[in-house]
Order: sequence, then structure tokens, then C-alpha cells
Amino acid sequence: MSLLMNANITCKKCKCQSTNKLYASINANLNKPMKKAILNGSFFEWICPCCNRKSILLHPLLYHDIKKQSMFYLIPNTTRRYFDDMDIEKQYKDVDNISKRVVSNIAQLQEKINILEQNLDDRVIEIAKYNLIKIIKNEYNTDSIAGYFNSFNREQDRISFIFYIGDNAVPCNKSAKSELYDNSERILNAVYSKSKLTKGFHTVDIKWAEKTFEAYKGTN
Ligand SMILES: [Zn+2]
Repeated sequence: MSLLMNANITCKKCKCQSTNKLYASINANLNKPMKKAILNGSFFEWICPCCNRKSILLHPLLYHDIKKQSMFYLIPNTTRRYFDDMDIEKQYKDVDNISKRVVSNIAQLQEKINILEQNLDDRVIEIAKYNLIKIIKNEYNTDSIAGYFNSFNREQDRISFIFYIGDNAVPCNKSAKSELYDNSERILNAVYSKSKLTKGFHTVDIKWAEKTFEAYKGTN
């Protein structure tokens, strides 16, 4: 089920107050238009009913795709990397078999959904990304790099990402051969022996990948 909640919002421009219905959770299996809206960015747009000003309204959102056994919890700007949510544990029966992630911004949520839609493992993607970032850091001589998964095509032997490089966040497409995914999967399995990270909500990002990679080096 998708859940709506009432929220009182004050417009930053005209200060008018209004009550709005916002989604607290989205069921991706039943609500495909909302999934599309999250991916194209329109989901978090809010238009003030008084002055028509359009802005981005970030709010907590639980995205669940039970068919694909995944849940993503967007908690804006959170720094928590792991937590249990008892209400959710009670609400969803099969919760122990569901991969649960916490993300802190819209871009991360979009990336997780994109990875899921392509039936890939986000942990493998993060390890692959981490290894590409190490190469880019040397190439561009900067530590300031953010990257997001784009697509994976085995027939064309290509896995591609978009990176934002340097202080000006210059966008740059980078791709590698499929073996980057396969090698990253081997690293994951060597460290976690196929366990699925189903207990509680985890942050699986570049920091997580770095820790996993260090643990892998320790095993060799
Ligand atoms: Zn307004």
C-alpha cells in the first residue's frame, strides 16, 4: 500500500501556509506512475497554492518493491548508517527477506531504484564504482568526486556511470567492461559469503564499498 500524510507547509517566498498531502510510502508494484515521477525528479516538486512558486520539497519516504524484495528509506540528510525500524518490522511480514537501505538524498534514491529496475545488486555496483573512482582520482588529481550508476549491458560488454568531478562537479560519463561487475561481485562474495544484509536498514554507498574493499584486501 502507498500511504499519504498531511503536512503543513509554509511557502518560503510568500509565507502562505497550506496543508498538503504527501506520500509517506510508495508501493512500487501498485504505483508505477509514482515510481516514474521519482526517477524523473517530478515527485518531490511542490507548487505553492498561493503564489505558484515551484520548489523541491524533501520529506521522508519509504519506497518498497516487495516483488523485488527491496525497501529504500529516504531520510533527508541523515547521517545514520544503520537502524532498525520496529513499526516497519511489524507492518511487513516478510521483512526478514527484504534488502533494506537508507538513503539521504533524491539522487541516491533514484540510483537505488535504477539499479533495482535493472535487477542488479547495489552492493556490487558500489564496489565497482569505488574502483572506478580510484582511477578517476588519479586521472583528474582531485578527491571531489560523486558518481551514480547509469546502465549495464552485457551484450555490449559495458557498465556505465556518470561522475561529477572536481569542485565544479563537471559531469563525465565513464564506462568499463562487464568484468568490472563480475570482479566486484567476487569481492562481495569473498567478504560476505552471499549473506544479503536483510536485518535493519543499511547505508550502502561509496564509504561502505571502501570498507568492504579493505576487508577483502585483508583476506588476501
Ligand atoms: Zn507561495
